[in-house]
Amino acid sequence: MANKMIITCALTGAETTKAQAPALPVSPEELAVSAEEACRAGASIVHLHARNADGTPTADVKVFKAAIDLIRKKCDVVVEITTGGAVGMTPEERIAPVALGPDMASLDCGTVNFGNDYIINTLPIMRQFASEMNLHGVRPTLECFDVSHVQSSHILIKEGLLKPPYHYGFVMNVPAALSLSVKTLSYMIDQMPPGSYFTVMGIGRAHIPGICAAIAAGGFIRVGFEDNIYYAKGRLARSNAEFVERAARMAREAQLEIASPGDVRKLFGLRGA
Ligand code: ZN
Repeated sequence: MANKMIITCALTGAETTKAQAPALPVSPEELAVSAEEACRAGASIVHLHARNADGTPTADVKVFKAAIDLIRKKCDVVVEITTGGAVGMTPEERIAPVALGPDMASLDCGTVNFGNDYIINTLPIMRQFASEMNLHGVRPTLECFDVSHVQSSHILIKEGLLKPPYHYGFVMNVPAALSLSVKTLSYMIDQMPPGSYFTVMGIGRAHIPGICAAIAAGGFIRVGFEDNIYYAKGRLARSNAEFVERAARMAREAQLEIASPGDVRKLFGLRGA
């Protein structure tokens, strides 16, 4: 795996709307089509949020199930669901879809500003989420929006709630949270336990710098409409696959092979490895 690049595609998120990005996949059917296209373009993991028919975010287990079932029918991509949910959801709502047994799930490692809003992740919530993921054999991606979140993950590790190999997701440049720079990213990386893996998630304008930073620092890449809607300045992306294709091209130019879903299953010890 040393010279393979894992690309995650965050298909939709909770915030982006079709009004902002007409190509945004929203329904389970659209999510499955977008997941297959992203997988074909080089994504080995898709990060999944669910939406109601009107496009608003939902944690409805039935909607998640419909999307996961359709994705699994189309391709073998690793499915990671959100437990960050959306602003205003209760922890109980956010964790419920983990019972469906996706391959992976995000586990937010601290409370964070989210523009004018905020998402609450106290230690008790983090413990509850980690326990629930262990119960269902779901491997967490430890999403950190701040350096203190990486440090908080050590508490769960000490308590035996997280098992190696740890996979961190550094969410950089959320408005009112930590910005992306070589210094901030380096400090995040320094706080990880030895032997951990990490994916850089550059939000908005940090999209391409995030890809470059991941390649330079030996991490993995995340792209997709959740994180960014512009392919270039003033030009909306036509699809999630378009973002993935560029990320794969950049990784290949850096002499990295693109990891397959099977590579990810083996590396992270997922079911079916
Ligand atoms: Zn997400």
